[in-house]
Amino acid sequence: MLYNLPEPSVDNKSNKGGCPPSDIWDGHMIQGAKQSKGHYSATCSYCQNFWKQRKPCILREHLANHCQKCSSETAMYYAKIVGKNLGEAEVNSKEDEDSEDEWTSQ
Ligand SMILES: [Zn+2]
Repeated sequence: MLYNLPEPSVDNKSNKGGCPPSDIWDGHMIQGAKQSKGHYSATCSYCQNFWKQRKPCILREHLANHCQKCSSETAMYYAKIVGKNLGEAEVNSKEDEDSEDEWTSQ
């Protein structure tokens, strides 16, 4: 044990801000014009939904839960990522909220 082995490569420098980068820009989202210091707009390449400030965690959640146009493969892929980040309980409670509308008979 002469040397400390380095940790398996974790992308430390991109781990700031709580929203780790992802592959959403690889065909899923279109990065738009720079809005302000460090902020860019984004457009969903499937449903053309527009965000003034791109935040990968928001965009991933869109693909996972809200996008009506992306493939189910894409939605499931990001649902897994979003579910990991938020915790499954939170994802489940969201689904419950949605189905509650159908159950209320008023
Ligand atoms: Zn979309």
